Amino acid sequence: MEKREQLYEGKAKKVYLTDDPELYIVSYKDDATAFNGEKKGTIVGKGSINNRMTNMLMKVLEKKGVPTHFVEELNDRETLVKKVSIVPLEVIIRNISAGSFAKRFGVEEGIVFDEPTIEFSYKNDELGDPLMNAYHAIALKLATREEIETIKKMAFTVNDTLKEYFLALNIKLVDFKIEFGRLSDGTIVLADEISPDTCRLWDKDTNEKLDKDRFRRDLGGTEEAYQEVMRRLMGE
Ligand code: ADP
Ligand code: UDP
Repeated sequence: MEKREQLYEGKAKKVYLTDDPELYIVSYKDDATAFNGEKKGTIVGKGSINNRMTNMLMKVLEKKGVPTHFVEELNDRETLVKKVSIVPLEVIIRNISAGSFAKRFGVEEGIVFDEPTIEFSYKNDELGDPLMNAYHAIALKLATREEIETIKKMAFTVNDTLKEYFLALNIKLVDFKIEFGRLSDGTIVLADEISPDTCRLWDKDTNEKLDKDRFRRDLGGTEEAYQEVMRRLMGE
């Protein structure tokens, strides 16, 4: 597999073309941003951790019947993935109140929900990723009704699977963001990443934050938190 020109540089990853028109290479960076790019920094070792963690979790999800873009891990930072056309929705699932949910509804963080919630944001940096519902997404032709149904079902399966998986590592899966894409034939698959950048992960016993909130909120120990999650995933 040959890496060709860079197609896109995002906030956390670069995407490259390959000699196969159906495959891309994603390269994970140590760069970190928060608050729609207002806060910038580096989390040393993040690229490698997020790459390896995403791939481990995507393999777990494939086994549970969730199709993903994952093809092959090439090295610490780089992975071969199926090219998709990204559905421009950030799909957010929550099990416990935190972040924008706590702020919007004026409640404390840490309320355990009886059922998980799902919400969509329009993936559009200029607009600041506004919250939208399924009707808005269909009206704007971001996805069809059928695609939204597929995405919802897959998102809840991702949650059930990862919640259980993390609990076995003594970690609570508080909330997370995932993205979906369409393969050339229109099949919806899970794409992008699943990492401490995109999930809130709390230690089960102490509620210590093991995710990007350490960076967002200047709590310190960000590198160590990412390493700790990786250590538990590797079963050390
Ligand atoms: P952002 O664009 O938000 O800054 P990243 O830095 O993570 O985010 O950039 C990676 C980009 O690649 C994202 O826009 C993501 O939607 C997109 N992407 C992820 N997986 C795939 C894929 N399999 N095919 C095409 N694009 C993808
Ligand atoms: N999230 C993300 N990218 C975004 C927005 C949110 O990965 O652009 C993740 C975030 O890490 C958290 C979940 O989605 O795990 C819910 O985030 P929330 O809506 O609470 O927003 P935030 O507090 O991060 O602004």
